[in-house]
Amino acid sequence: MYVIYAPMEVLRGKPVSQRIDSELKLLSEKIGAPTLVVYLVNGDRSSAIYARSKIKKGEKIGAKVILREYSKDVSIDELEMNLSKDATDPAIHGIMIERPLPDGIDIHEPMKIVPSVKDVEGLHPENYGLLGMGDPRFIAPTPLGALLLMLHYGVEIKGSEVVVVGRSPNVGRPLATLLSQKVAWGNATVTLVHSRTKDIGAHTKRADIVITAVGRSKMLKGDMVKEGAILIDLGINPEGNGIVGDVDIEDVAGKAWGATPTPGGTGPVTVSSMFLNLYKARMLQEGLKVEFNDEILGSVYGERGGN
Ligand code: NAP
Repeated sequence: MYVIYAPMEVLRGKPVSQRIDSELKLLSEKIGAPTLVVYLVNGDRSSAIYARSKIKKGEKIGAKVILREYSKDVSIDELEMNLSKDATDPAIHGIMIERPLPDGIDIHEPMKIVPSVKDVEGLHPENYGLLGMGDPRFIAPTPLGALLLMLHYGVEIKGSEVVVVGRSPNVGRPLATLLSQKVAWGNATVTLVHSRTKDIGAHTKRADIVITAVGRSKMLKGDMVKEGAILIDLGINPEGNGIVGDVDIEDVAGKAWGATPTPGGTGPVTVSSMFLNLYKARMLQEGLKVEFNDEILGSVYGERGGN
């Protein structure tokens, strides 16, 4: 059942993920099903749910997903040996490692084995560097999804004041880099705030677009946003039996022009965006021209966008 936060526009993720998935289904027929390997290295329940949701999504769009599960006391040597096999196997197009990893395993170590061209999470230093240089190859799925969601809803990014709350390497920081790119879908003036920022509200209150990637339930209140702002909430915070975002959506309704709900907002778009990276990975590995029929996918990843 949909909750309506009148008079605010509710920017749902489903139409955006469906849009991406439709393109990927077509690509499965055109270029063949790509294969993703997901490493699940702990007994964490939510990571297992996320990993299995990828298998389901893969079945839906026509991609193959292999799950490699390990107990939390797996040795780094065993993990790295299997990663090395997948890294060199031409039948594997993308590799991702579910987080959090058990204590004692630093994500940077296994990630060093994942070749940049199979890095569907956009975390390889080469891909990170390409993004910083203004020539993105694989954009981390959460920032990519946030961008695609805004483009789908016709949000004016160019010239806007954007405040990103949260500076993590996989979400807030690449997002700030992405939206300030000198390309048609970028050109925002971006401020990145974090836990050491003195007065977060002073920044968010002047923003046309606020994007939260924090992990603090309902931290963004109505008195922290300006009239007519657009709020993209990437936070996922357990509450009771469900989840809530970083934005207090009831409190901002009536003040903001539009906001993504949680659940039902950015989450599904992130998963589809990871698959978008997988298809792009296959095209790059097989020397195919990277092109998409869909206008927004083409603008970001095709001939018209970064490669
Ligand atoms: P993270 O690595 O813990 O980073 C959180 C960021 O928020 C840090 O930069 C931290 O600042 C900042 N922060 C923490 N408390 C703050 C406060 N009170 N005020 C301002 N900034 C504060 O988390 P993450 O991986 O980026 O994930 C952030 C949220 O997004 C989580 O809820 C996660 O579950 C969610 N997420 C959602 C998706 C999706 O698909 N929608 C995907 C990935 C993650 P410091 O750097 O100063 O510590």
